[in-house]
Amino acid sequence: MKKHNFSAGPCILPQSVFKEASQAILDFNNSGLSILEISHRSKDFVAVMDEAQELVLELLGLKNKGYKALFLQGGASMQFLMVAYNLLEKKAAYLNTGTWSSKAIKEAKLFGEVVEVASSKEKNFNYIPKNYTIPADADYFHCTSNNTIFGTQIKEFPATDLPIVCDMSSDIFSREIDFSKFDLIYAGAQKNMGPAGTTLVVVKEEVLGKVSREIPSMMNYAVHISKESMFNTPAVYAVYVSMLTLRWIKSKGGIQAMEQKNNRKAELIYGEIDRNPLFTGFAAKEDRSVMNATFNLKDESHQEKFDMMWKEAGVNGLNGHRSVGGYRASMYNALSLESVQVVVDFMQELERKV
Ligand SMILES: *Cc1c(COP(=O)(O)O)cnc(C)c1O
Repeated sequence: MKKHNFSAGPCILPQSVFKEASQAILDFNNSGLSILEISHRSKDFVAVMDEAQELVLELLGLKNKGYKALFLQGGASMQFLMVAYNLLEKKAAYLNTGTWSSKAIKEAKLFGEVVEVASSKEKNFNYIPKNYTIPADADYFHCTSNNTIFGTQIKEFPATDLPIVCDMSSDIFSREIDFSKFDLIYAGAQKNMGPAGTTLVVVKEEVLGKVSREIPSMMNYAVHISKESMFNTPAVYAVYVSMLTLRWIKSKGGIQAMEQKNNRKAELIYGEIDRNPLFTGFAAKEDRSVMNATFNLKDESHQEKFDMMWKEAGVNGLNGHRSVGGYRASMYNALSLESVQVVVDFMQELERKV
């Protein structure tokens, strides 16, 4: 039986994508070959890479606007340093909203001065700082759109003339944003787009080529652009499955349709968190993430009972991250409203039973 999968990442993908992807392992495009055994330079795979890059720019509304989409490796964590390698000449401005921002800051410091414009660390990152000043002489401003661990999400991005770099690992393709505000977007595929193993980078070409240091080829966006993400062997299968998911997003009505569905799921769970006297939300209300809802039991003695209920019913991955505790419902694009309803029903059952 398929479980209700609330895993934070790697995470749920559409069931139809799993089916098509598994077929391609046995026989890709009726070629008599598995996708795992063909050259990344074969016509069939080059078509996959091209379509994946096209779909990214199309879905984000960035076609013909000077952007390139790349499928690289090393995860979002590699982007923490690659961004700085390519863009940080003297000074960069970072907003610290959680574990991933903190890690990005640590790596950037190896390349130059980092100004932390604001941080919510003193409250265990349960809110998004606002009204901070971004130094006008920084090379770029970096932020994390959705804080997967703490369940907060930036609703309004700051106005700045600097290039904006954003880690969108856990909410890319989940909501409509004016993506043309950003000069570089990156996202590990395994949260809302595909399997682990590839990382999407969408970069505006005009921000590149401005640092004086020499950049090793594998770290150099310009090299990857010139080779169309095939400077070395790409993560063939991860790119393929990502492409299938992008096709699925498009067929369902694009980001707008994803956003509507995601908002309904979030309203359902947050509504129950606020109504149910046994539970309390972790993140500040105005900053609540539509992707990852974090919440706690007010009385931890109910934990064993609650955990048994949802685990027995085939719910997976509801435990909170160790730095927050409690629960985290990750409700990525492929998760259905019905799965959220199952958890809400158990929250109500617990209320009746205790
Ligand atoms: C998961 C995650 C990362 C780390 O991604 P890796 O691909 O494991 O390096 C970075 N940023 C955010 C926002 C994440 O959710």
